[in-house]
Amino acid sequence: MIKIKTLNYEQTEAAGYLIGKQLAAGDVVLLEGDLGGGKTTFAKGIAKACGVLDVVNSPTFTIVKIYQGHLPFYHIDAYRLEGNSDDIGLEELITDNHAIIVIEWPRYIENILPKDHLKISFNYLSEFEREINLMPVGKKFQERFGENNGHIMFR
Ligand code: ADP
Ligand code: MG
Repeated sequence: MIKIKTLNYEQTEAAGYLIGKQLAAGDVVLLEGDLGGGKTTFAKGIAKACGVLDVVNSPTFTIVKIYQGHLPFYHIDAYRLEGNSDDIGLEELITDNHAIIVIEWPRYIENILPKDHLKISFNYLSEFEREINLMPVGKKFQERFGENNGHIMFR
């Protein structure tokens, strides 16, 4: 597990950018934790790493937003689904191996999540402090982010 502590918004976005640079098409990233924890901030950083120039906002009212970069970036917020994810084509979107897929509130669509994913949890420590924990799940992510390969660097 990789632990990152940030002291402001910019650092959380930068952390997202650094992780984003380690991602490849088909990767699924799950963002968990409290409201205001920094999930969307971190997602903005991942989007930048994908070459997305558009402004990335919380997708809360639309469930899915698709952005074009040198890698397509799918931003999903499952909060409003509360488990009713059948028949809206989300599973097909999540298994698209051309895009980077970032999911906020993944617990609401647990039944359709891929086995391999990078789970990231956000803990609110104080007004400006956040603790970010990276938990690689499955061989693909463990090889890239596991104990002995946990280098996060600029590319
Ligand atoms: P979430 O998507 O988890 O609900 P957001 O990223 O939308 O969270 O919001 C985080 C809020 O917390 C923003 O208003 C941001 O300005 C504020 N903030 C303060 N400190 C930090 C930090 N270290 N990292 C991220 N956001 C922070
Ligand atoms: Mg959010």
